[in-house]
Amino acid sequence: GTAARANSDSFKVVLLGEGAVGKTSVVLSYVEGKFNEKHTTTLQASFLTKKLSLGGRRVTLAIWDTAGQERFHALGPIYYRESHGACLIYDVTDEDSFQKVKNWVRELRKMLGSEICLVICGNKIDLAKDRVVELSTALAYADSVGARHFETSAKTGEGIEEVFLFLSQQMLRVR
Ligand code: GDP
Ligand code: MG
Repeated sequence: GTAARANSDSFKVVLLGEGAVGKTSVVLSYVEGKFNEKHTTTLQASFLTKKLSLGGRRVTLAIWDTAGQERFHALGPIYYRESHGACLIYDVTDEDSFQKVKNWVRELRKMLGSEICLVICGNKIDLAKDRVVELSTALAYADSVGARHFETSAKTGEGIEEVFLFLSQQMLRVR
């Protein structure tokens, strides 16, 4: 009924980032609570849903993961259209993947304006000794584009809940 609907919000969240940064691993960690070194990059479900409760509001996230098209530079507006939020992921051991995040931020701001809530995730922080992207650099960049930055590991689960919790709160605020 109306009361139920008024207390329930659904949001589309897209995962973006270079191939192999851990997008699929992050969503599987969040929604299914598992990490598998060897999951295949081929056709995972196009989206997974996650329900959460936030201060008495029920929130349903439809989290869209790519089927690997980013590897062929074939990820266009059809994928991210009508998104309420985006999680831009890079691999802290891969400088180039951090640069790619900047391209996505530019494209999303150009195509969707300030409507879309953005979070940036430096993933694979469990590989600390191989880290090349400095946290201070990433924080300064995120700040400059008005996005929150999180450090995550799909392998240990660190930071993952916080990402989607923050994004949900922000999406509720701007809705
Ligand atoms: P996608 O192409 O962005 O979807 O990346 P995947 O989720 O397929 O991950 C690519 C590879 O990185 C896989 O071998 C994952 O097991 C690995 N991986 C993903 N996240 C992490 C992480 O947080 N830590 C570590 N050590 N490996 C990760
Ligand atoms: Mg993937």
